[in-house]
Amino acid sequence: MTLASVLVVEDESAIAELISLNLRHAGYEVTLASSADQAELAISKVLPDLVLLDWMLPGESGLSLAKRLRSQERTKSLPIIMLTARGEEVDRVAGLDAGADDYIAKPFSTNELMARIRAVLRRKAPEALDTVVEVGGLRLDPSTRRVSRAGQEVKVGPTEFRLLHFLMTHPERVHSRAQLLDRVWGDHVFIEERTVDVHVKRLREALSTVQCSSMIETVRGAGYRLTQHTQTTTS
Ligand code: CA
Repeated sequence: MTLASVLVVEDESAIAELISLNLRHAGYEVTLASSADQAELAISKVLPDLVLLDWMLPGESGLSLAKRLRSQERTKSLPIIMLTARGEEVDRVAGLDAGADDYIAKPFSTNELMARIRAVLRRKAPEALDTVVEVGGLRLDPSTRRVSRAGQEVKVGPTEFRLLHFLMTHPERVHSRAQLLDRVWGDHVFIEERTVDVHVKRLREALSTVQCSSMIETVRGAGYRLTQHTQTTTS
């Protein structure tokens, strides 16, 4: 099953530990940061699927970090949920204005936190959830790790599975190799871009067994796209 990664940015260690315990129990992969600086360092290494960002941090505030993440190309659509002790409407608006996708006032229940996380992921990073996805007759089930078309199973390796999952949850959009490394491999620094080409080739070979290899299009000079309009010429 796919594990979504969550970066928890919270300076109060008791709260940070409680949140991370609950997230891990629910199957998420958790990284902790106790300041905006630490959070940025963590993000520069690996892009998480979602950031839980406390407003009140020592040094730079969570609000200011959220604004900066939104202003940068690599992190502009990174899902962010703000955590805060403040419950005022004006703060809620400020948080959303800064680019947060949602906002939770402390104290909150674990159930509420989990529901908000799932809702934001469903909207912005559906590849991080284990919901079955179907595009153009191709069916992918993250919980059983099965890919099939009209009942015929397609054998794919773990990396090709993650790549296909990402492409199927973001169909008809062009993704650059750097974006795919960030979102599928979680590493845009140490892995070469041609690694993407190698796995796309393997994925096409696997999909050719169910006549779906042309769903993965190469977009010259831009990257790759999954489409269900397979009559389009591929290059
Ligand atoms: Ca705090």
